[in-house]
Amino acid sequence: MLKWGVLAVALAVSNPAMAQRAEPVDLDMVSKIRQEAFHRSQVMDTFSHLTESIGPRLTNSPAMAQANAWTRGKFSEWGLSNVHDEAFDDFGRGWEFTSARVEMLGERVQPLHALPKAWTPGTNGPVEGELVQVDIKKLADLEKYKGTLRGKILLLGEAREYKRGTEADSHRHDATSLEGLQEFTLPKNAAAEKEKRVKEYTERQALAKATNAFFVEEGALAAISISGWDNGIIRVAGGGSRRAGESAGIPELAMISEHFNPLVRALSNKQAVKLRVDVAARFTDDSNQPGYNTLAELRGSSKADEVVMLGAHMDSWHTGTGAADNAAGVAVMMEAMRILKAVGAKPKRTIRVALWSGEEQGLIGSQAYVAKHFAQFPEPTDPAQKALPASLREPTGALVKRRDYDKFSVYFNMDNGSGRFRGIYAQENLAAMPVFEAWLKPFNDVGATTVASRNTGSTDHISFDRVGLPGFQFIQDKLDYFSNVHHSHLDTWDHAEPEDLKQAAAIVASFVYNAATRDDLFPRKTQKGDGGD
Ligand SMILES: [Zn+2]
Repeated sequence: MLKWGVLAVALAVSNPAMAQRAEPVDLDMVSKIRQEAFHRSQVMDTFSHLTESIGPRLTNSPAMAQANAWTRGKFSEWGLSNVHDEAFDDFGRGWEFTSARVEMLGERVQPLHALPKAWTPGTNGPVEGELVQVDIKKLADLEKYKGTLRGKILLLGEAREYKRGTEADSHRHDATSLEGLQEFTLPKNAAAEKEKRVKEYTERQALAKATNAFFVEEGALAAISISGWDNGIIRVAGGGSRRAGESAGIPELAMISEHFNPLVRALSNKQAVKLRVDVAARFTDDSNQPGYNTLAELRGSSKADEVVMLGAHMDSWHTGTGAADNAAGVAVMMEAMRILKAVGAKPKRTIRVALWSGEEQGLIGSQAYVAKHFAQFPEPTDPAQKALPASLREPTGALVKRRDYDKFSVYFNMDNGSGRFRGIYAQENLAAMPVFEAWLKPFNDVGATTVASRNTGSTDHISFDRVGLPGFQFIQDKLDYFSNVHHSHLDTWDHAEPEDLKQAAAIVASFVYNAATRDDLFPRKTQKGDGGD
């Protein structure tokens, strides 16, 4: 049997100087991984438990703690080592809701579909009030509502014109779209872009804070805003504040646009509208609490102090069951660990899995973990910089590296929904590309073919990338992630495809095994503030 099938990747045959050393792949091991992943999969058991037994896992909610405990139990049951939760400081308070009911009162009582924003208070039983439209775009707008909101229910903002669907709401990549991903777009004016984002963020934060406090002070009963998407979907994230000592505002809900728009029309026709709102929601802590990531390892042999990591965020928003975002990623990463144990893999380097928390609030769990174990930029002293999430801050001074910085190899993340892997983004690390080509080759037959040089952002691999450590995400079929599911109450079990998750788990298991057995640590790209490697 072929033990070390060599899959040579010639980058530029015409230019021998550019030809890459062939990356060896242990096809014997990859076969075993595929057998376990495709024929004896447990990925849907894990996915089902996370979504339908535990349910939504807002960071620091009781359900998130349950998920930490359950996943630890699974890792231990599978025989992994160093299974533990690791705290990151001072996340804030936990929150959960159990019911939300909104009705339009009148001769005919009409149920209206709305769900609360996370970290906003409940109503403490049903409240009834006259509906008034309130449109606040800037701080100065607050003034004109002073003294008018007591005992009222607020309709926030304006109607939104319905956008009729013109294309399928579920997508898989085809040859053309995959080819398109291989094109690299040079960044234009990155500094100006960032400055704009910082400005918008700062203004939005200040306005939200002032508005929350204003509504409480004015004695409004509840507020309703429009869902971000049409077609009966409630897309909603946080409101209020999770921080003890900051205003949580008044009970606030997001309503489907098809119920929100008629309320706007009724008010603009000078019709009196009365609503009844009943939200059962509560903060589960009085003071700010740490958040917790869950970790486990498959110990390495000859290079046990070097680490290959894989991970996904386990926290979710609160209205669906956090299925595609991101029980899918968690189930795949856990399954990859189970597979490696089941096939008796003996990696040289230690393989460590991390199930992050606080991702939805700004990559907080992974960022804290990387800072503690690998590297961080010094904390800013400028209060304006301090107030920004890490993703918007400017690096302050030289990178401070921890002992394990040089022992770190590579991190793989999954957080683009539950769709099938079609390849991987190389995050502008060109030396990674031939390695990935070789590692993907045994999965070309299940649709994973593409290595794109471009970056992909906005999730936990960025915590690694930002300090010059290789961190990657896979190219995935979108399915209906960005049309129906992402941060919506439809983020549930039915939107995932079992075969896609099996395929993803096989690829992750194989990638981390390859990384943990290859001769060298994974190649790094040069980083600002770092001498490069
Ligand atoms: Zn996510």
